[in-house]
Amino acid sequence: MGALVDGFGRVHTDLRVSLTDKCNLRCTYCMPAEGLDWLPSDNLLTDDEVVRVVGIAVRDLGITDVRLTGGEPLLRRGLVDIVRRLAEIEPRPRLALTTNGIGLARVARDLAAAGLDRINVSLDTMHRATFVALTRRDRLDDVLAGIEAARDAGLGPVKVNSVLMRGVNEGEALDLLDYCLAHGVQLRFIEQMPLDPQHGWDRELMVTADEIIEMLSARHTLTPLGERGSAPAELYRIDDGPAVVGVIASVTKPFCAACDRVRLTADGQVRNCLFATEESDLRAPLRAGAGDAAIAAQIQAAIQRKRAGHGIDDPSFLQPERPMSAIGG
Ligand code: SAM
Ligand code: SF4
Repeated sequence: MGALVDGFGRVHTDLRVSLTDKCNLRCTYCMPAEGLDWLPSDNLLTDDEVVRVVGIAVRDLGITDVRLTGGEPLLRRGLVDIVRRLAEIEPRPRLALTTNGIGLARVARDLAAAGLDRINVSLDTMHRATFVALTRRDRLDDVLAGIEAARDAGLGPVKVNSVLMRGVNEGEALDLLDYCLAHGVQLRFIEQMPLDPQHGWDRELMVTADEIIEMLSARHTLTPLGERGSAPAELYRIDDGPAVVGVIASVTKPFCAACDRVRLTADGQVRNCLFATEESDLRAPLRAGAGDAAIAAQIQAAIQRKRAGHGIDDPSFLQPERPMSAIGG
């Protein structure tokens, strides 16, 4: 049927699938302490529906990379089986998962055996008290065990995603890097984006990519690796290598012009951007018996409407209704 090309000529090959909006942490930049009104379970796409939509996207629309996320995807019952079924799609997509790492130590081997290729684990601090303040749960040890289990299961290169916030964990860039270097995993910093339901994002509290580079440069020589293509992370070799660190300047240097991502929410909505204010419902047509061609055409139409950029710097910028946890980060 062809590629997913938008009005600006961007070709979309990366599908992010949220498997649940629920989470066992409450990161301050993502969820309020009391959690959110979770999606009604009838509204969640079933395993069969998820596998069907991904199959259509891969076979008919040129998707080559699929990332499972949430909420916390390890909370999705049947996750290992979903991975196994996605790995059977022809042509086989590359399969990745973004997780907070809790419970990962238990399932890392099963996920690898089912066909998962790569994993990203979110970790913002090496200090227990800061972890508790930031995530509102005392689970740092579980996360560290998960990272190491993923690496040992061959889900590499394991990437660790960190968000730095002023007055919270801004001084931890080097500690996080030390941990990642010592454990053979790749660190990537992500600028904090205005996606929290509390609308607490404040540009002044965001630690910028330039600041992060400056902090890391106090102890290391960073050499830019050059062209990042559609990959959002600017990569730097650390000292003489081979280790690298990534910095994703989602706010200060947006990568919208090269964006190749499309998202499917846990309740079956196609979103053409994290910051989109409109969605395209696939759940109703899926449940009304729509054929593959109709589903594919609807995904294509959603991509056609994609805007040039997220416009965070535009005075007319509106934060999307859905928080990050319900979109799929
Ligand atoms: N629960 C999983 C996790 O934490 O990795 C997957 C979902 S989470 C929404 C995906 C990623 O989004 C995490 O790395 C998290 O740090 C990041 N994230 C959440 N809210 C964010 C925000 N406001 N700005 C930047 N990154 C954010
Ligand atoms: Fe949960 Fe991930 Fe959001 Fe933290 S960032 S609350 S782990 S979904």
